[in-house]
Amino acid sequence: CHCNHSFGSGCDKMTNRTVLLDEEKVFKDPVHRYIHVRDQLIWKLIGTKEFQRLRRIRQLGTTYLTFHGAEHSRFSHSLGVYEIVRRIIDVFAGRPHWDSRERLVALAAALLHDVGHGPFSHTFEKVFHIDHEDWTRKIILGQTEINHVLRTAAGDDFPKKVADVIAKTYEDKLVVSLISSQIDADRMDYLLRDAYYTGVSYGHFDIERIWRVMRPLDDQVVIKESGMHAVEDYIMSRYQMYWQVYFHPVTRSAEVILGKILQRAKDLYRKGYSFRERPTRMLPLMHGKISLEDYLKLDESVILYYFQTWQEEDDVVLRDLCGRFMNRHLLKYVEFTPNTQMEDYFQLKEWFRTAGIDPDYYLVVDSSSDL
Ligand code: CA
Repeated sequence: CHCNHSFGSGCDKMTNRTVLLDEEKVFKDPVHRYIHVRDQLIWKLIGTKEFQRLRRIRQLGTTYLTFHGAEHSRFSHSLGVYEIVRRIIDVFAGRPHWDSRERLVALAAALLHDVGHGPFSHTFEKVFHIDHEDWTRKIILGQTEINHVLRTAAGDDFPKKVADVIAKTYEDKLVVSLISSQIDADRMDYLLRDAYYTGVSYGHFDIERIWRVMRPLDDQVVIKESGMHAVEDYIMSRYQMYWQVYFHPVTRSAEVILGKILQRAKDLYRKGYSFRERPTRMLPLMHGKISLEDYLKLDESVILYYFQTWQEEDDVVLRDLCGRFMNRHLLKYVEFTPNTQMEDYFQLKEWFRTAGIDPDYYLVVDSSSDL
């Protein structure tokens, strides 16, 4: 048993009982002011290399090319989600319907819910057919520091519980709804955090009011009627952030280029092109067979290193696309209505060909939606 016995609590390995730190740790955070860590388990999870990796993955992918402040990482978002769940649980403590034995699993799941994200997730997932939720599960259940910390602190079945909460299959649906529902800790943190870092003036809502009026009821979280206006604000904030930030056409243009770089690199690799800078770390992705170990070696600094060096490749398309991404020479966008403009589209495609510009890489129809 690796439990820490210095607190006089005996072995907590099988009981999920909280082992506290000697002294509370705090992280300064621009959104929640302070993030408080009292549980040894949480502190140790933050220290794992898989969690530290999230420092090198931006929360908003290519959005920094539109809103230059949007450099915040999945690390800071994950801490934020943890903090919101921690504060909601404080409100729940002692109330009927809330099982205090679920506290630690809820906190761990909140902290780890995004741990499977890779660099520029959305685009990578599309091009390489990967699923970050799968990877989250693999990281929690596989041979990782995170898995080791979870097992040693709370027992061998604990990693699976945490993974189940994130996968929404956990038996206690109340715990699940803290992390994924229409008004959950994940969304509340990213809306406020993304609004803060992009610098937009909309997107704010009174989160403190919301978590104060949240109540556990049977298997879900409900909200007192007196909190209705704060919830309305939250919904408007979501709406605004989607249209003003998440679906921003310039960000999407950068995403399109990113996708085309990956597609080009993949095509070239398949054709046996000899790279000046061989993308060693990306090869498992290109083969479609990537191990947990290889996956964890990928982050945005690795990917941007390739893009930087590929500006000197012999292949004209790869070189050009990388230059565009690195130096923000993005492609122009126009509104396009397929129902009435298909003819125009084919005409444009033809002109591209005549001009010697490969429409497969330079003419893209992109649409965005969210339920
Ligand atoms: Ca998230």
